[in-house]
Amino acid sequence: MTPHHHPSEDLIASCAAGTLRPGAALVVRAHLARCPTCQADAGFFESLGGALLEAEPPAQMSDAAFDRALAAIAAPGRRRAPGARSASADSAFLPKGLEGLAVGKRRWIGPGVWVTPVKTEHRSRELVYLLRIGAGMVLPRHTHSGREFTCVLEGSFADDDGVYGPGDFVATDERVEHSPVVARDGACVCLASTDAPLVMRDVIGRFFQPFAGI
Ligand SMILES: [Zn+2]
Repeated sequence: MTPHHHPSEDLIASCAAGTLRPGAALVVRAHLARCPTCQADAGFFESLGGALLEAEPPAQMSDAAFDRALAAIAAPGRRRAPGARSASADSAFLPKGLEGLAVGKRRWIGPGVWVTPVKTEHRSRELVYLLRIGAGMVLPRHTHSGREFTCVLEGSFADDDGVYGPGDFVATDERVEHSPVVARDGACVCLASTDAPLVMRDVIGRFFQPFAGI
């Protein structure tokens, strides 16, 4: 099924140029993997970026920068982020196509509901996580204090603005206050990235937030 909700052209271009924060890029790429239209757009931006680079006159590198580059090449491989681990037997819960994600421990925050942090390659203050919510469940009413990007990986949910199924991309910020409802026919798994925690609007949400870490 082709997704109905897509990232903006700006986001796709930033992702192709490698200037997007790593978690956000991961969420955009999760959409691209399921959306031939946006994948074609990303390919166009990548080739455009390559052509621009080729057209640039060669830049003079300073001696210090050259030394730093040599030191980086000589340094041992990048250390894994603290607490991160590669996919292993107990990552069997990861959705298809994301088996290689480095994830933290799953936290169960209710029957059929878990959240797990996703480790990104670079140091980053953003929060990246996988969230699974059981069929028919309603998320506590909340808003967003920063920009949040979500890609639905499995199942679907609905809010006042529409219905979001596999591959759909959702961008939210502090102007969006909602209480998503998961479809009754199956659990919903989403990959999300945010640069600030959610702001819970009701007492149930405020109670669960510290356990969920989101
Ligand atoms: Zn798309």
